[in-house]
Amino acid sequence: MPKGLLFVVSGPSGAGKGTICRRLLQKMDIDLSISMTTRKPRPQEVEGENYYFISEEEFLEIIKNDGFLEYAKVYGNYYGTPKEMVTQKLENGRDVVLEIDIQGALQIKASYPDGIFIFILPPSMAELRKRITGRGSETENDINLRLGETLKEVAYIDKYDYCVVNGEIDEAVNRVAAIIIAEHSRVSEDIYELIEKYKEEI
Ligand code: 5GP
Repeated sequence: MPKGLLFVVSGPSGAGKGTICRRLLQKMDIDLSISMTTRKPRPQEVEGENYYFISEEEFLEIIKNDGFLEYAKVYGNYYGTPKEMVTQKLENGRDVVLEIDIQGALQIKASYPDGIFIFILPPSMAELRKRITGRGSETENDINLRLGETLKEVAYIDKYDYCVVNGEIDEAVNRVAAIIIAEHSRVSEDIYELIEKYKEEI
């Protein structure tokens, strides 16, 4: 059975990665990896849906046991992708989407070069500020920190295969879905098998 594809989605905080990924799940037959984090849950967040919320002690133990595909410290909290869950799904032919920061994406690129890397951009800094402010969960200080980080993050865009500007959500979701479909249309080993079968059928 062909392995699933690994899609890595990154971009500045507030660019809309989370919304795009959730919408993709409704639209396509793919799985989203649920990360572990030491950050405290935001009011609407659900354990096991948005993240697995764990203590720093538990996180460090998982690092020690090599249980993360990648992990990083982002804005003072740890975030990591559980290794076992993702590799099993890929082996079983499922596509998996990781919504992770750039440090994590670079780790994945080193260990899993076949991954497909997608960068989500906001249409403007003003819009980005509006979106982060609208979430109501960050202090003014946090917001400024995240906006400052954005400029550093976009400097890594050349490490990615695709970029999608999220001005209008339906359009952005359609574009990411189109990337997934296109990646499944690449000339690959499976196609050679099909062509071999044609020969038998003549
Ligand atoms: P937030 O706290 O806003 O949910 O996420 C902060 C940042 O951490 C976002 O850029 C998000 O993509 C990133 N992030 C979430 N999960 C992971 C993960 O498992 N690994 C890494 N490296 N970054 C993550």
